[in-house]
Amino acid sequence: MMMLTRKMIEIRSLLQTVGQSDSLTLPSIVVVGSQSSGKSSVLEAIVGHEFLPKGSNMVTRRPIELTLVNTPNAHAEYGEFPALGLGKITDFVQIQKTLTDLNLAVPEADCVSDDPIQLRIYSPNVPDLSLIDLPGYIQVTGYDQPTELKEKIAALCDKYIQPPNVILAISAADVDLANSTALRASRLVDPRGERTIGVVTKMDLVEPERGAVMLNDRKYPLRLGYVGVVCRVPHQTSSLFSRGSANIASAITKNENAYFAAHPSTFGPASSLQVGTTNLRKKLMLVLEQTMSASLATTAEAIHQELAEASYEFKVQYNDRPLSADSYLAESLDAFKHSFKGFTESFGRTEVREIVKHELDQQVLNLLAQRYWNKPFDDLTPPLPETDALMDLPKADPENVLWHLKLDASTASLTKLGIGRLATTVVANQLQAQIDRLISTSTFSTHPFARTAITQAATAILRNLSYDTSDELEICIKPYKYRIELEDNEWARGRENISAVLKAELRDCESAVKSVEEAVGGKKRLRDVMGFIDRVRSGDVVLEGDGVGGAGGFSSSLLGIGRQAVFLRDRADILRMRLLAVKSKQCANKKNKYYCPEIFLDAVADKLTSTADLFLDAELLSKFYYNFPRSLDTHFRSLTPGEIEQFAREDPKVRRHLDVVRRKELLEHVLKEMEALRQLEAREKRSASRG
Ligand code: GDP
Repeated sequence: MMMLTRKMIEIRSLLQTVGQSDSLTLPSIVVVGSQSSGKSSVLEAIVGHEFLPKGSNMVTRRPIELTLVNTPNAHAEYGEFPALGLGKITDFVQIQKTLTDLNLAVPEADCVSDDPIQLRIYSPNVPDLSLIDLPGYIQVTGYDQPTELKEKIAALCDKYIQPPNVILAISAADVDLANSTALRASRLVDPRGERTIGVVTKMDLVEPERGAVMLNDRKYPLRLGYVGVVCRVPHQTSSLFSRGSANIASAITKNENAYFAAHPSTFGPASSLQVGTTNLRKKLMLVLEQTMSASLATTAEAIHQELAEASYEFKVQYNDRPLSADSYLAESLDAFKHSFKGFTESFGRTEVREIVKHELDQQVLNLLAQRYWNKPFDDLTPPLPETDALMDLPKADPENVLWHLKLDASTASLTKLGIGRLATTVVANQLQAQIDRLISTSTFSTHPFARTAITQAATAILRNLSYDTSDELEICIKPYKYRIELEDNEWARGRENISAVLKAELRDCESAVKSVEEAVGGKKRLRDVMGFIDRVRSGDVVLEGDGVGGAGGFSSSLLGIGRQAVFLRDRADILRMRLLAVKSKQCANKKNKYYCPEIFLDAVADKLTSTADLFLDAELLSKFYYNFPRSLDTHFRSLTPGEIEQFAREDPKVRRHLDVVRRKELLEHVLKEMEALRQLEAREKRSASRG
């Protein structure tokens, strides 16, 4: 018989993890009683330990679902809060403290909460039982307690004392049974007294005869009867033993037995009265087993129905596609690595070349602007004639040392720019950007933690590779810092390329002018302010002061925009002029490199790029392509099952899918357990009838 209760309690706990529906449970024993009726003392006598929150104020604010598990061969007694994951707690004072904390966590304004605390106690000294301790009924609300407290407690108890639960109604012997709140509440939901056990505590506080009358109560007769107990911990015991560590059950029973034995004529075997904690325990076990057993069929039916619903949802919503957090992670990772592989095939030396060359084109443009095209002025100061090198460029004399120096200095600036670092950085940045793009189009996009982990993995690898790569690349391009020889075809290619670059730059300039026009609100206005700036620059107009607060009737902000427009216009003029020069016959021949620094510098940039792309392809790309997927594997394989679950559940869609799968599995598991239980029950019945 014992085995059956144990199994049913296990099934009850399993059903608790399924949650949701009220019908998805097996009955339990709910313990109700007024404050100070001795409710805690009874529960503690059954468990054998003081573990319930104590205090003058009402401390029980949440139901405690207490599962007692008999562990016949174990020595240790311990408790567990399955929802908290605190592990085994052997110190019952600690259990008491945890319960108190959990109770106090209920906000004062809410008074009580119907979210139960689950507590399991394992001990060789407890019976297999499932009990629910509820807040004690209160008669009058204390001055510091909310007025609705009384109603809220009553409502909470009402919710739990519904069928098929067994009601353990606690009343103290020193209070008239007619005034017992517990019995009154029970009578409302169980008028024929079929599932209520009456417990009369503090029997030692009244005359034995009066106590006996209570146990024989005729006003509210109970089929399961009344049990009289004396559950007070004897004085010497509570002071002798340190609290929480020792088992108090035997001390209580000894004290209790002594009391009832002292009144043999009233409580002796002939009286047919039920007294004592030991008898109460036995009764509880028996009643619970019978009640649970009687509910099995209905509960199984409810589980079948839930399972049918879950299976339907699984089929319709998820096409019967199995899913676990593990498989989800594995699939996501595979898909991501696959898309990464696809990317590696589309991003090689050619793409690196394009990126590096584009970057160097910009550097070349900057150098040209600094050393050759320094016509435009972005302030209101008239130009110094000698810096206007552009004007002289067509007169560049190949014999003149000045022009040699100018081109040598420009080339040196380019080759000594720190190409190693620059090229490595732009390519690494591009790789990082591509990884970010791949993440955002993958399943990982909805998983912030995974996203960060993947980004960081890429960053770490790229950072490590970049240090060595940029140094080594710098060494590779070193020869170009001293001497640069150009072939004819290199010159021709440079000429073609820089024309395209200049054209693109010209287009950018023109569209920038357009947007400035729009910002100012029309061409005319812009022309006016530009005309004014031009007159200042040519010295026709002399500015008074520094023009900071505006000048010539133009506000300072309009002057600022005007200057920008003048700069862009001048830049566009230069670009047009240089485009003509580059296309001119003179520039067709590399001998005339001093006339055409654009072509020469572009050809140099091209040489640098060829070295860089080869090197970066071999050193940065290949190594990154090799290391990155491996680093992802290492990272994701090192996750704990909890982390994997957390990862998968980050995505609401996946979470719902996982929930349905899990619910289905749990329900199937419970049904299997119930079937095993049914067979066990049948076996026991057969052997009982044979015996
Ligand atoms: P609860 O508020 O209903 O949980 O009541 P408690 O179990 O805390 O008991 C209230 C008070 O009654 C405590 O001081 C207990 O020591 C005392 N008490 C409980 N059971 C008995 C008993 O059987 N006999 C006597 N004399 N006192 C008891």
